[in-house]
Amino acid sequence: MPRQAGKIPVGVSSCLIGEKVRYDGGDKNNAYITGILANYFHFIHFCPEVACGLGVPRPPIQLRQTSRGIRCIGVEDRQLDVTDTLRSCAEQQSHWLSGLCGYILKKNSPSCGIQDVRIFPDGPPTRTGVGLFAGFLQERFPLLPLEEENRLDNARICENFLQRVLVLHRWRQLLATPLTPHRLQDFHNRHQLLAMSRNRKLADDLGHLSASAEKDAIRRTADRYIRRLLTGLKKTATRNDHIGVLRHILKLVKQSLEAEDSAALQAALINYKNQKTTLAQPVELLKMHLYKHPNPFLQQSNYLDPDPAILALYRKI
Ligand code: SF4
Repeated sequence: MPRQAGKIPVGVSSCLIGEKVRYDGGDKNNAYITGILANYFHFIHFCPEVACGLGVPRPPIQLRQTSRGIRCIGVEDRQLDVTDTLRSCAEQQSHWLSGLCGYILKKNSPSCGIQDVRIFPDGPPTRTGVGLFAGFLQERFPLLPLEEENRLDNARICENFLQRVLVLHRWRQLLATPLTPHRLQDFHNRHQLLAMSRNRKLADDLGHLSASAEKDAIRRTADRYIRRLLTGLKKTATRNDHIGVLRHILKLVKQSLEAEDSAALQAALINYKNQKTTLAQPVELLKMHLYKHPNPFLQQSNYLDPDPAILALYRKI
């Protein structure tokens, strides 16, 4: 599939972008994905059930607890077992999956659901399953950001997912050029506040790791760095987490703050704490301050100068 220039490659369950690939010939078009996120991402769509030859329409399937473990079996025809077919089809996709920076999957699907998929024993079903294709992605690409489409309705979860996609994209850009300790340190400087918004210890650990990078072992250190960063970023930042980062930034700019700016920033912080405004207000005020009083460390930070997709979410969280 041709790559759209400048856009970040992200996988998506085909039915979510309006492809009529569901078992009944329908789709589950998601307007946020096709209307908003498509401005930033180049969506590469894939339907594992169609790809493995089940066709459209096709008999519905479900996860069932059997004596051979959890299997993907026909709802009406219990003799239909597509578990091995789906698994082997997923294996054959690794060549393009490895180039993705994220994947949005359809909830509840025995193929695509990431969590809480119904598993049918002989009694009432339990919601503890993982779709076969989603399970393959989790196992084979543990750092690949995954999310279910319904959870993107929550702005904090959506911000979390998009941040991880963007971090992985920037990381791939970094690796496309010769990696040096200096460039790893530079990458960390740009992501330090973002890491801090999830966990202060995460930011500290990554700071030590990047500072200790040596030329001879740079790839090993870089691998450890990105694993720690992307794993740590799975935590969704709360309002209190953001307040902690904003207070840290205020300390860094204290010397250059005039009384009027200081009062406006303190008021914005209190308003944000009291849920009277969103993260965008203190961030915009800080950016205006940095325009008047440049600070290279803060101005290069992806936290204070986020991508437009993230900025749009700062206006909601
Ligand atoms: S297998 Fe996945 S992509 Fe295909 S219809 Fe089901 S949920 Fe959608």
